[in-house]
Amino acid sequence: MSAARGDAAPAPRLLDLHPRAWPERLAAYGAQPFQGRNAARWVFRRGVLQWAQMTDLPASLRARLEQEQPLVSAVLDQRSEAGDGAVKVLLRYPDGARAEAVGMPGTRGRTLCISTQVGCPVRCVFCASGLDGLERNLSQGEILEQVLWLRREQGDFHRLVVMGMGEAGHNLDAVLGALDCLIDTEGSDLAPRRITLSTVGPRGALQRIAAWGRPVTLALSVHSADDALRHRLVPGVRTRALEETLLEADQVFARCGREYTIEYVLLKDVNDSLPQARALALRLRGRRCHVNLIPYNPVQELGYDRPVPAVQEAFAEALRATGLPVTLRRSLGGSQNAACGQLRRRQISAPPSSAEPC
Ligand code: SAH
Repeated sequence: MSAARGDAAPAPRLLDLHPRAWPERLAAYGAQPFQGRNAARWVFRRGVLQWAQMTDLPASLRARLEQEQPLVSAVLDQRSEAGDGAVKVLLRYPDGARAEAVGMPGTRGRTLCISTQVGCPVRCVFCASGLDGLERNLSQGEILEQVLWLRREQGDFHRLVVMGMGEAGHNLDAVLGALDCLIDTEGSDLAPRRITLSTVGPRGALQRIAAWGRPVTLALSVHSADDALRHRLVPGVRTRALEETLLEADQVFARCGREYTIEYVLLKDVNDSLPQARALALRLRGRRCHVNLIPYNPVQELGYDRPVPAVQEAFAEALRATGLPVTLRRSLGGSQNAACGQLRRRQISAPPSSAEPC
C-alpha cells in the first residue's frame, strides 16, 4: 500500500546536498547536467541566492525553482553593528529557531563566524550560548545559509571560523557536510587552511575530524589545564581527561598536518594566574599547537570578569617563556552583544521584529 501523501518525507533542500549532487537533483526539474553545475556555481562561487538572477538558466526553469526550491529559508531577525566594524546578524529559520553569524574585519579581509547549533548542550559557565541548553542542531543547509547570507551582505571573505553558537562536535554530519561544500572545487573552492573549526572535543569528534582529513585548523577549547577546573568550566566534557582529548588532537595533526590551536578564555581570578599558565605550558610541552588567549567578553547574566591587560600579558608571557607560540586575541564585536549567543538571548523573549527577507 502506498503511503498517504502527507507522509512522504520532504525532498531535501538543495543546500542540504553537495554541489556535485545538484545536477541529478535539478534533472528532476528538467535541467541539463551542465545547468545543474552552473546553478551550483552561481550559488557557491558568486553568492547568488535568487534563481531569477541566474541568467544562463531558462526562464521557465528559474520560475519553477523559485517556487519549488527556494535557496534560502531564513529571514533576518536582527542586525547589530559594533564600532570596530564587526556586524552580527541573527537569522530566523522557518520554525522560529534563531542563529547568530558574524562578519569581522581582519588584516587580510573579512572573517566570517558561523553557528552550528541553536543554543548549546555544553553549557560552558561563562558563555551565553548554552544558558538555555540546546534547542536543536542546524542542518547543513542552514549552516551554509549563514555563510552565503553574510557574503552577499558584506562581500567576499578571507577566513571562516566555526566558532559561533553551538558545539560542532555534536553536529558533525551537518558541519563537515557544509565545509565540504565550501571546500570543493564544484562548490566555493575555499582553501581548507582558511577554515578554523572550534570544539571542546567531545568523545569521538576528533577521531572523526582526523578521518575526514581536510587540513582545516582545529581549535580546541581548553580553558584550564586542570581537569577539575575544566570540568567545572566546561560541564559538557563530563569526566573526560584533558590529556585524552589532547592525544586525539595530536592525531588530527598527524593526519592533517596542521598545527592546532588551544583556545583559552581568560577569566579574572578563575584561570588567569601564573601557576595556571605554567601548568598549561607543561601540559602542552612538545605538542604541535599554539595558544590563543581570549580575554573574556562579559555576559551580563554570568558574573565573570575579564582580567586587566597587565594580567593578560603576564599570562601570555609565562607561556611564551616556555617557547609556546601565543596570541592574545584582540576582542572584536566587543561593544554590543558581542559574546556568542548574546544577540539570540536578547531576542528570544522579545516580540518578533519585522523580518527582512534574506
Ligand atoms: N563549542 C565550540 C565553539 C564555541 S565559541 C567551542 O567551545 O570551542 C568559540 C570560543 O569562544 C570558545 O573557545 C568559547 O569558549 C569562547 N567563548 C564563549 N563565550 C565567550 C565569552 N563570553 N568571552 C570570550 N570567549 C567566549
